[in-house]
Amino acid sequence: MAQDAPVLLGVFAHPDDESLACGGLVARAAALGARVVLVSLTRGEAGPTDDGHSAALGARRVEEFSAAARVLGAEAAVVLDHADGMLPWLDHAVIEHDIRQLVAAHRPDVVVTFDADGLYWHPDHISVHERVTAVVMALGDAAPALFYVSMPPGQMRAVAARAGGADVVPGLSDPDAFGAAAPPPTLVIDAGPLAARKLAAIRCHVSQFAASAFAALATDDAALIAREHYRRADVGAAGLTLLDRIGTPPAVSA
Ligand SMILES: [Zn+2]
Repeated sequence: MAQDAPVLLGVFAHPDDESLACGGLVARAAALGARVVLVSLTRGEAGPTDDGHSAALGARRVEEFSAAARVLGAEAAVVLDHADGMLPWLDHAVIEHDIRQLVAAHRPDVVVTFDADGLYWHPDHISVHERVTAVVMALGDAAPALFYVSMPPGQMRAVAARAGGADVVPGLSDPDAFGAAAPPPTLVIDAGPLAARKLAAIRCHVSQFAASAFAALATDDAALIAREHYRRADVGAAGLTLLDRIGTPPAVSA
C-alpha cells in the first residue's frame, strides 16, 4: 500500500470489540487503501468460553482477533497483555504509555475508540475511552484526529429478534443495553455491501459468538449491522479525515 495512505488506529479492550463496534468502518477504510492497525489492550482471557473456563482462552482469542483483522483488510492486529476485566483498576500511566507508544509507532491520521458509554457500560471499554482520550489530549498540536464509536440504539435488538431471541453477546441478555446511553453521533458510516465482511469478522470470534445471535444470522442479515455511529472528540486534530469523507451526518429525527 502507498506510504502516504491514511492510517487508522483502532484501540479497544478485547478481541471482538473491533469487529462488533467498527467492522464496517475498518472494511470500508481498508477497501479505500487506508492502512488500519487494530489494537486490543487485553487477550480477552476472562471472557466466557464455549467449553467452560479455559486457560487457553486468551491464546485462542488472539488467533480469532488476527483472523477477524484479515477478513476486514486490516494491516495489523496488535494484542497487549493487560488483565482482562481489570482495566479501570490498573495503573493508568502504564496503559497510557502503551497507547502513546502505539501512536508513535504507527503515526495514525485517525484514532478510533469507544465512546463514553463503552458500547453498553462495560467498565473495560469505558476505561479505554478515558485512557485514549487522555493520550490524544496530551499530544496537543501533534495529536491525530479522534473519533468515538457507539452502537445505533435498537440495532442489537433487531439482530436478536432476527435470531429468534438469542443473546448477541454471551452473558449480556439485554440487547437494548447497546447504545442506549450513547452520546449522539456526529457521523454515520454505512458499511453497505461490506457489512457481510463485518458479519464474517464477528464470526471469526468463534469462542465468543458460536452460540450467539450472530451465528444464527443469514448472510443477507448483515444489512442489520451495516450502520455505525461515530462522534468527533473535543480533543485531537480538527481537519477533515477519511471518516468525514465516507460518513454522512446523522438523520435529523422528527
Ligand atoms: Zn469488549
